[in-house]
Amino acid sequence: MEYKDYYKILGVAKDAPDKEIKQAYRRLARRFHPDVNPGDQKSEERFKEIGEAYAVLGDPDKRKKYDQFGPSLRDGSFWRHGPSPRPSSRVYTTTRDFAKDFDAESTLRGMGSGFSEFFEALFGQGFGRGAEQPAGTSSNGGAARAAGAAAHDTSKGSDIEHPMEVTLEEVASGGNRVFTMQVPELCPTCKGTALVNGRLCMTCQGSGTVSKQRRIEVKIPPGVRDGSRIRIRGEGNPSHSGGQKGDLFLVVTVQPHPTFDRKGNDLYVEVPVPLTKAMLGGEINVPTLKGTQLSMKVPTETQNARTFRLAGQGLPALRGDTTGDLYAKVRVILPTNLSARERDLFQELKRQREG
Ligand SMILES: [Zn+2]
Repeated sequence: MEYKDYYKILGVAKDAPDKEIKQAYRRLARRFHPDVNPGDQKSEERFKEIGEAYAVLGDPDKRKKYDQFGPSLRDGSFWRHGPSPRPSSRVYTTTRDFAKDFDAESTLRGMGSGFSEFFEALFGQGFGRGAEQPAGTSSNGGAARAAGAAAHDTSKGSDIEHPMEVTLEEVASGGNRVFTMQVPELCPTCKGTALVNGRLCMTCQGSGTVSKQRRIEVKIPPGVRDGSRIRIRGEGNPSHSGGQKGDLFLVVTVQPHPTFDRKGNDLYVEVPVPLTKAMLGGEINVPTLKGTQLSMKVPTETQNARTFRLAGQGLPALRGDTTGDLYAKVRVILPTNLSARERDLFQELKRQREG
């Protein structure tokens, strides 16, 4: 049986991140696609090989298993000792029994699937069954149990992140948001294996997942900040091994507000105050995020840019019961379009102040 170096087939390093593996696969799949090379047997073989390599390295569970057991298939220890990283493990009573059992299995499955013998050796049913069988009977079956667990690994799908903009009003009061977005699901044609009869799955272009429009309902907690992550359970990537779906994290960006500035849980707002009121004192209206107005007294001779604190009128804290404050900054408005009478009054004021 020919050992398959899937890393070499895709031209990536052993420690290449998932993203790089995907990129390499896409690049090669495009180049060797049968549609691009009609009738070219070599390209088709290569295309199958690339698809198989990606079916393994593109799947975290399969990749792990390949990294763990692949080398023992190359150096032959797999055949002498069974699918175990420990050469001394007494998993199989005789080498010949296992090999015979295994060959029958892989031949049967290999006929229909189009995967290589090597792939079937590692991921076919023969692997799991052979490993499980002795686990219950052998007191030294730790490795076999581990292999059995790997075959039945139902790890959760990975999480995905998606940006979400919220308004400052939503930060103040919280809120519900309903929107539709494309969420990945396991490809119904290839069930996430990326291959159908040894050929690249055309439904999902070999990615193993398809996008589906989903209605997402999200509760925006009061007090969210830039970078807050809101978790929506079960709307992440599907598991390729029968496990739960991953989660969707909505990463919050708070939209800038035309009137209010935010610093932590405090709000800042500028309030225009006519010159006369600033000089003589009086009541002014301070806007709130709820759209209401708070009445506030300013003293006589209030200076421009003086800031008043309205305790507890800011934003709720994301955690805990505290609430920030609202700071109202006075912006004195100088009068325009003076009447003749008003100009006279200012003249008098000038004489009064300057002598
Ligand atoms: Zn598919």
